[in-house]
Amino acid sequence: MGRFDGRVAVVTGAARGIGFGTATRFAEEGASVAVLDLDEASAAEAAAKLPLVDGAKSVGIGCDVSDTESAEAAVERVVAELGGIHILVNNAGVTRDNLLFKMTDDDWDMVMNVHLRGAFLMTRAAQKHFVAQKYGKIVNLSSVSALGNRGQANYSAAKMGVQGFTRTLGIELGRYGVNANAIAPGFIATEMTDATAARLGVGVEEFRAAAAEANPVKRVGYPEDIAAAAAFLCSDEASYITGQTLYVDGGAKLG
Ligand code: NAP
Repeated sequence: MGRFDGRVAVVTGAARGIGFGTATRFAEEGASVAVLDLDEASAAEAAAKLPLVDGAKSVGIGCDVSDTESAEAAVERVVAELGGIHILVNNAGVTRDNLLFKMTDDDWDMVMNVHLRGAFLMTRAAQKHFVAQKYGKIVNLSSVSALGNRGQANYSAAKMGVQGFTRTLGIELGRYGVNANAIAPGFIATEMTDATAARLGVGVEEFRAAAAEANPVKRVGYPEDIAAAAAFLCSDEASYITGQTLYVDGGAKLG
């Protein structure tokens, strides 16, 4: 028996990185899984790699979470092709880092649109199913950068916004059997942090080693660390936890 037998999980931005790690974990524990990402071919490729259990199914769907029609169509396709929707992980993300005085309108809008508008649109589309069936689990990806980070005025504002959004979902949807929580990762080894290393002109291994050295537990995080927390928050064991933000950062924010 897996914790998610008979459940359908949707993970956005899941063609790689934390999203793919999380989709993998839900599949291992029995869920049918929809992999959403900008490029349908990459989403389908990732969906085909998931370690599905028994009769579970997967599907890869091309979806821009920041576009209303695309987000709504993706949720309806999941319901039609996988037979329902029980879990939504709003993971899709981008960075457009720059010091404030160099940050462009596009840098600001892109980050707000993918993280905040995207989480809003996907959640609004999913919640009508959750409310009707009186069951749903939502996990939104925040970040330690919500607490402030040089060069990330746009990203930290969006990621703190995600925390306020999550608290409000907890208040509004609790009575309908829906739990909503956020995970705020610290440094996780993915293409997103590799791109930051490249932007700073530092090698990936050197960048990861420095992050590990600065961390209380002396290592970087991996997608599996976030997947484990997401699986717990979406499990029925966590049904009395809602509106919270769990920092999964090796204690980084303590420093
Ligand atoms: P990643 O490797 O860059 O993966 C992000 C995925 O999201 C990519 O596949 C990307 O597709 C997709 N995406 C971007 N815009 C999208 C859109 N509009 N609609 C649908 N999908 C879209 O990132 P990650 O490191 O796994 O991060 C996942 C989440 O965790 C993000 O919300 C990020 O902010 C958060 N986070 C990450 C870290 C970290 O250290 N890695 C720390 C804290 C929080 P394309 O490749 O086509 O662009």
